[in-house]
Amino acid sequence: MRKGIAVSPGVTIGVAYCIHEVFVDPNKSLLSSHEVAGELAKFDNARKRSIEDLRALQSKVSQQIDQEAASIFSVHIAILNDPILLSKIRAWISEDHLTAQASLAKLVEYYRGLLDRSRDEYLKERMADLRDVVERLTSYLSPALKKKSKVLSGPTIVIADELLPSQVVMLGNKPVHGIVTQAGSQTSHAAIVARSRGIPAVSGVTGILRQTKTGDTVVVDGREGHVIVNPDPEVLSAYRKLEREFFHLRDELAHNRDQAAVTKDGTAIELLANVNGLADAQSAAAMGASGVGLYRTEYLYLTHASVPGEEEQLEIYNDVIDASPNRFVTIRTLDIGGDKTVPFLGRSHKEANPFMGWRSIRLSFEHPGFFLTQIRAILRSAHVGSGEPGKSVQMLFPMVTNVEEVRRLRAIVRKAQQQLRSESIPYGDVAFGMMLEVPAAAITMDRLLKNVDFVSIGSNDLVQYLMAADRDNPKVSHLCQPLSLAVIRVLESVVATCNQFKKPVTLCGEMAGQPQAFVILLGLGLRRFSMSPAFIPTIKELASHITVAKACELVELSKKQNSSRRIHSLMNKELMKIAPNLEPILMS
Ligand code: PEP
Ligand code: MG
Repeated sequence: MRKGIAVSPGVTIGVAYCIHEVFVDPNKSLLSSHEVAGELAKFDNARKRSIEDLRALQSKVSQQIDQEAASIFSVHIAILNDPILLSKIRAWISEDHLTAQASLAKLVEYYRGLLDRSRDEYLKERMADLRDVVERLTSYLSPALKKKSKVLSGPTIVIADELLPSQVVMLGNKPVHGIVTQAGSQTSHAAIVARSRGIPAVSGVTGILRQTKTGDTVVVDGREGHVIVNPDPEVLSAYRKLEREFFHLRDELAHNRDQAAVTKDGTAIELLANVNGLADAQSAAAMGASGVGLYRTEYLYLTHASVPGEEEQLEIYNDVIDASPNRFVTIRTLDIGGDKTVPFLGRSHKEANPFMGWRSIRLSFEHPGFFLTQIRAILRSAHVGSGEPGKSVQMLFPMVTNVEEVRRLRAIVRKAQQQLRSESIPYGDVAFGMMLEVPAAAITMDRLLKNVDFVSIGSNDLVQYLMAADRDNPKVSHLCQPLSLAVIRVLESVVATCNQFKKPVTLCGEMAGQPQAFVILLGLGLRRFSMSPAFIPTIKELASHITVAKACELVELSKKQNSSRRIHSLMNKELMKIAPNLEPILMS
């Protein structure tokens, strides 16, 4: 059994699919002599078409952003023109009679062997570029190959180093039952996506890719953070029972979707959803959310090969708004940087401290054309046509640090409105909100609140900055804990200040959907929560079992504890008393 970090609750069993592997058709990896010339031509054609793609992307990105941003595509083109690499592939095809696909798999293995031993981070990053190029070639060599993979026909456990957003999209229509990653933590993007899809997941399991191969049976316990590869029959049957209980409870809770979200003493709360796109907006509606509290638009960019234009963005935002409950959507502007990079923005620029560097609005400010396009699209999405049902669109800016930035943001929004007016393009009213994720902003809340319409607390980042502990580094995950005295004190003061200024405040970090933390937040006076749709039924059920007075009592008790571990165990014990029926879902 391997221990990692529990990032998405539930127990599941399936067949491993190791994502670092270039899939090679098991029935066809060797060629007969007469097939060699055709295979070489097939490879050359795939290479030519890949280079054409990359050139087109390069020119689009350099026009829309800048030359530097487009430089990543030059790196990929250079790989496709590398004489050493090409001669290796050609020799494997013509002399060893390997298929082009098998040659690419061999190439990846060859470089992985070399680079695993290297300590050079730059070289290691080049491995990701090589994989990207191989993926592109594969799509031309054997477009249908991946679909033929037998292992993806049943319940699949995806095992990867870190799941990239593009891979998550690729997995969208596959039967993924569990996710295990070597890197990552509670708040990394693989975890967030897993939770939003209700898929049990464990992160931070070092070395799992080496110890597992595609086809192995794997148990994922996303409550305890355990991963078991090829378990013996007794263990397997014990976990099958847990798996059944988990799915049963999940289905049962889904029935409360139409009930109001109220605490045991009748206090109304608002349960909103965090979404990454249309599919999540649909599940927000299915799970009984009352709106979307956080739409992370970066997935739009992370999954596109180049910058989506204004019309394309508008169409996507409108689709999300139409699918969302009450057509209420809080659209967050691009939050790239930190752990999220896009091929055409900032990737060529390597930073020593990306989470404290050039991310979110800091990056958007330096791409004014592209930022304005997004703001225009959001304003336009808020327009309600005649005869159309009402909608409510909010604009949310990530990583706000000071008042000066808010003024600058306001000026950009005004400029976008002026442009649209002078072009006679209709747009709608949009509330202006800031994410509270930087400690400096928490300390100066009173000043910031005068300049914004609402606040959304991004506790994933706020906690990492308060505790000086990287949210994605498993080595410091014991410090990066929302249930700690420092975090509780800061949240208490932020919520109180927002209430004093009568500005709506929501918390949209992962802690909103964690039962232990939810109770504390309720006790701190918070009434609006935004979380992965999959958590909404559980939190609604939990709320109905607890009074606000009890939650306040638990906040006071938690504040007396000397460690985050103690707060956790106190809350675990209390939850078992308050809502024992939720046991199969509660993460330890
Ligand atoms: C947060 O920081 O809490 C948040 C919601 O934003 P993200 O996880 O996308 O950084
Ligand atoms: Mg954040």
